[in-house]
Amino acid sequence: MGSGGTMDLAFTPEQEVFRNRVRAFMARTLNDPFYQENRHRGGLRSAVSRWWDRAVFEAGLAGLSWPTAYGGQGLGQVEEIIFAEECYRAGAPEGIAWAGKGLLGPVLLVHGTEAQRQQFLPRILSVDDVWCQGYSEPEAGSDLAALRSRAVRDGDGWRLSGEKIWTSTVKDADWSFVLARTDPAAPKHRGLSLFLVPLHEPGVTVRPLTEVTGDDSFGSMHFDEVFVPDSQRVGEVNQGWRVANAILGFERGVTAIEQHGRYHRQFMAMLETWASLPSGNPLADPAVRDEAAGLLGELQILRFWCLELITELQAGREPGFSASTLKYFYGDLFWRIGRASLRHQGPAVQRPGDGFQHYEYLWALGTNIFAGTSEIQLDIIAEHILGLPRGDRS
Ligand SMILES: Cc1cc2nc3c(=O)[nH]c(=O)nc-3n(C[C@H](O)[C@H](O)[C@H](O)COP(=O)(O)OP(=O)(O)OC[C@H]3O[C@@H](n4cnc5c(N)ncnc54)[C@H](O)[C@@H]3O)c2cc1C
Repeated sequence: MGSGGTMDLAFTPEQEVFRNRVRAFMARTLNDPFYQENRHRGGLRSAVSRWWDRAVFEAGLAGLSWPTAYGGQGLGQVEEIIFAEECYRAGAPEGIAWAGKGLLGPVLLVHGTEAQRQQFLPRILSVDDVWCQGYSEPEAGSDLAALRSRAVRDGDGWRLSGEKIWTSTVKDADWSFVLARTDPAAPKHRGLSLFLVPLHEPGVTVRPLTEVTGDDSFGSMHFDEVFVPDSQRVGEVNQGWRVANAILGFERGVTAIEQHGRYHRQFMAMLETWASLPSGNPLADPAVRDEAAGLLGELQILRFWCLELITELQAGREPGFSASTLKYFYGDLFWRIGRASLRHQGPAVQRPGDGFQHYEYLWALGTNIFAGTSEIQLDIIAEHILGLPRGDRS
């Protein structure tokens, strides 16, 4: 794939060499006895995730598109997508560093200070610091700008107080990027700032929450007058909404790239499981065949859409509001794939093994919620892409 503004779907010989290097890494690493022993042990999910990101780092494959000055590999977005594709082709585990690598890192490269880039980026890649996203609050999810956590000036820093909830990976996190109110008198979108907050400090309390999937690295964070130096503010004071949205753009776009491979793999595994069902293959029914072909077609559309996004990122453009259409599309698609598996596979969906499992079905529930619910994506599309009048959301 070229790096110009148009989409060229042929990979260059150098990119194919890179793909072979990644394949060799996958084959070697996924045969590691630690992984083979623990890959299906739910309680070890985060230990496996940490081990995986560390292996990626040690193989020189972390931060593929990041500059070498910050520990990256100085390659491009195309190498990132090749890596993501190969991960899911090989069935690699999720990494623990997703929020640092996928959300905060790309935004610090644009909106961070030089000191912030030097301090934080290499430690994200080496998995010395695990990050989580501190946006949602008990009374501020969809209406994120209504958040109440506040940061008050104190000498050369700020005192942060408030509560964040539904924080993925918080159990394993060392830092959080936290959106907080810095001007209570300003209109709600204009009085927010984004802070980089250490979690192993006095005044921080983390409480676990168990997800419907059974994963337990979810939780809430409570901040009681936690001191944050001003050097750990990202972007201008009271301009945090802009930075927070840049991060959300990456979340909505980049997670699509990662999740596409996962769901494609799960979909193919689901068809294999169907072929061996004692009750017969659901694909014998022409209506189910139509449905399956339609879903596979949509997965292919998603792949091309992701490649287009990669072209945009390669050209240095942030995903922005257009990522909302992608997020809406894949949230809805994954949910329909999950429902198809349950409807046609019945109780067999709960069988342990490599098919489209109960876990994936439950996980698909969340794709319509995280990074902003599907209803909120439709709102953004209506207002910012179609230019329709703004709804009544005071
Ligand atoms: C798996 C998962 C991981 C998550 N990880 C994180 C994380 O790491 N960090 C973080 O900060 N948050 C995280 N979240 C939280 C997520 O961002 C919020 O759950 C989401 O934004 C919705 O907020 P809420 O739960 O408060 O629901 P609410 O905002 O209370 O919404 C309830 C329902 O009302 C609908 N609704 C609300 N407002 C409107 C409107 N204006 N128009 C139409 N419908 C509307 C919503 O679509 C939804 O169906 C995660 C959530 C999930 C499920």
